[in-house]
Amino acid sequence: MKIQEDITQELLEKISAKRPFIIAGPCSAETEEQYISTALQLQQLNKIDVLRAGIWKPRTRPGTFEGVGVEGLAWLQKAKALTGLPVAVEVANKTQVEEALAHRVDILWIGARSTTNPFSVQEIADALKGVDVPVLIKNPINADIELWTGAVERIEKAGISTIGLIHRGFSSYGPTEYRNPPLWHLAIEMKARYPDLLFLNDPSHICGNRIMLREVVQTAINLAYDGIMIESHCTPDLAWSDASQQITPSALGELLKDIQWTQVMEISSEDHYLIHLRQQIDQMDDELLQLLSRRMEISDKIGAYKKEHQLSILQIKRWNYIMDRISLNGSKLKLSPEFIKRYYNAIHMESIRRQNEVINKK
Ligand code: PEP
Ligand code: MN
Repeated sequence: MKIQEDITQELLEKISAKRPFIIAGPCSAETEEQYISTALQLQQLNKIDVLRAGIWKPRTRPGTFEGVGVEGLAWLQKAKALTGLPVAVEVANKTQVEEALAHRVDILWIGARSTTNPFSVQEIADALKGVDVPVLIKNPINADIELWTGAVERIEKAGISTIGLIHRGFSSYGPTEYRNPPLWHLAIEMKARYPDLLFLNDPSHICGNRIMLREVVQTAINLAYDGIMIESHCTPDLAWSDASQQITPSALGELLKDIQWTQVMEISSEDHYLIHLRQQIDQMDDELLQLLSRRMEISDKIGAYKKEHQLSILQIKRWNYIMDRISLNGSKLKLSPEFIKRYYNAIHMESIRRQNEVINKK
């Protein structure tokens, strides 16, 4: 198979070995000046492995900036020549793959909206046949790791030898603190499926803002991610897309200094497996606690309603209904009836205690 001309052995070795592996650059290439200036500042940090840029932007609504198109690829080539850094671009269809390869783009990535659509992924995979270029695959926008897995399988089948995964969070309904909540447990499950693939975090699209970036990067590093893909722009406030989440190259330099880069210790493969499982447990425990806390907040509201309408806290018909429903659903999920009973009795008692507190409050 023909390796994309510019892809050096050094890049392939870096992708499989250099940790942390860092991709940075603006959400979109906007003008030659903006791109080159950002690229040079990023290179000055001496920590960036690959420059990124969106050339074709998949926007939720038409009428917003949809990327500069092919013209921008020449700016990337120039940035590459000036900095010596490889470049990465998002591709979403056959023409974009062909244009990117013709302009010697070193790494391609598949965006979250494309991963959601098997037709798009297959079109990209078909366009890649006969060329070997590293391909990074973002998670789909919806919380479905089968779609993510399917995309990996399609790209693998096209003969691509270097594949990486990028976790950029998942769409959710209603207001949340994140632009795309990370749902770390899903990413961890994907990492468990593909322990040997490069696994990057994209804090920019998870956060949607600048303040939470550091915390998300640190969490990712704590969860043994191989690195990050992060958006950085020479004048973020003036960015034509994703302005609120982009940071200047110097702010990125500060952020990278702040991160505690965890050591991957020399441990036996057996321990490694155990650690991996424990990380999943801790993450799920945090999520269980969050859910429990939200459930209790709803109990408080019910308590207030019962107080206002002078209703008893214990409503036995409702409680029997909950227990029947939960026992049935729990058994479908292979949870033992004893466990479900103990667990729900504890939740029910705490809920009663909280409602009592609400009702007894003067
Ligand atoms: C991007 O990287 O700028 C982008 C469009 O991201 P995503 O596919 O994760 O939405
Ligand atoms: Mn973006």
